[in-house]
Amino acid sequence: LSPPAERPDRRLEKLGILGGTFDPIHSGHIAMAQAARQAHGLDRVLLVPAARPPHKERELAPAADRLAMARLAAESAPGIEASDIEIRRGGTSYTAETLEELARERPDAELYFILGADSVPELKSWWRLPRIFELARLVVVNRPGCKGLFPPEQFQGIPGELLERAECDRVQMPPVPVSSTGVRKAVRRGEPLGAKVPPGVEEYIRRRGLYRGGRG
Ligand code: ATP
Repeated sequence: LSPPAERPDRRLEKLGILGGTFDPIHSGHIAMAQAARQAHGLDRVLLVPAARPPHKERELAPAADRLAMARLAAESAPGIEASDIEIRRGGTSYTAETLEELARERPDAELYFILGADSVPELKSWWRLPRIFELARLVVVNRPGCKGLFPPEQFQGIPGELLERAECDRVQMPPVPVSSTGVRKAVRRGEPLGAKVPPGVEEYIRRRGLYRGGRG
């Protein structure tokens, strides 16, 4: 018997990674994970709440709560799981490090990093962006109001063919006009969340008394 690595019928696991602050997770996150999963035939999508995102200044809900809500959301979403990889590592969460860790843990997996179109213009400031493009395919999902193109002059250091592939890997989904900011605002105003959040999340927010005060 040949070792697994040499078997021609061996199929790579296609693993999607959706990183975010998830403060809290909402239906747009789940919809984009599902759209990316379907479009690219991904076996699984990991929801990865950041311990501390590099670009967000405001105070966040505790990491344990953000992770618990991601877990609740995953319960009703087939093929979607929550991962504590960044929260376990602690400190500022850099996507390049997370992808390196996942690639080390699962050398057989093909990694797809999923992000919303509104995040594309921010990418140029991400730590070790060329490494991210090396380790994973970038899958951009549309978000209301965003074009999210990859103008090459803003992505110096990334080979043109990787930018082109990222363009081709784009996923369109019916727009979901929900944001974590909007959810936090609704909680503060005492409005019901309804379909803005996946099942179980609203109950969790109320039980833990999250997002009642503050401005963010
Ligand atoms: P906030 O309102 O606090 O800025 P957010 O709703 O943008 O939060 P994040 O956790 O920051 O949520 O987002 C994680 C990822 O999900 C990002 O890549 C973001 O672009 C994407 N995303 C979030 N909401 C949507 C949505 N409604 N449609 C498409 N992509 C989305």
